[in-house]
Amino acid sequence: MPIQCSLCEYEVEFDHDYHNWRSTKEQPLTIYPVFPGGKPKKEPKGFICAECLHDAKRSRSYMKTVVSGIVITVHVLDRYIERCKADHLDRETAKVAVAKEFSHAKKIRIKKKWLNRRFFNNNRKPANYYFDGGFIYITTKDEIPITLVTIEPVGNKELGRDFWYEDEQET
Ligand SMILES: [Zn+2]
Repeated sequence: MPIQCSLCEYEVEFDHDYHNWRSTKEQPLTIYPVFPGGKPKKEPKGFICAECLHDAKRSRSYMKTVVSGIVITVHVLDRYIERCKADHLDRETAKVAVAKEFSHAKKIRIKKKWLNRRFFNNNRKPANYYFDGGFIYITTKDEIPITLVTIEPVGNKELGRDFWYEDEQET
């Protein structure tokens, strides 16, 4: 009987006696049963393919990072305080404010020319870019925990001309 990944509909022919999976010819395993509690005591809740499982693991660590709070550098806090022209703001308060604003920020792609300059200024490290309100937020890419490296006021840059939301086409 074929079994199917509950997420992407990837399908594979498989024996339903999970204790026999050790002796199966299917090598390496490309799909796994998901049992309540993790062990085959009852019927599986469903199946997940190796690729979806990999994505789920990555999503989990990403969400954990977001929930546990991203690392915000002192540089960012000082830039934020400076740019908000709020002398009374201490770093702790700024941290909460930045984290809150960043949580609303949307991922963007930036214009090639600007990207090249940023890449250079960022010690040639790949970065992710986010935008919300008046700021562009620049974070580390593919690193856990994610670190907010710097923020830039949007200034005269324009959405739809100099940068785009990740899922939108360049115009
Ligand atoms: Zn799948």
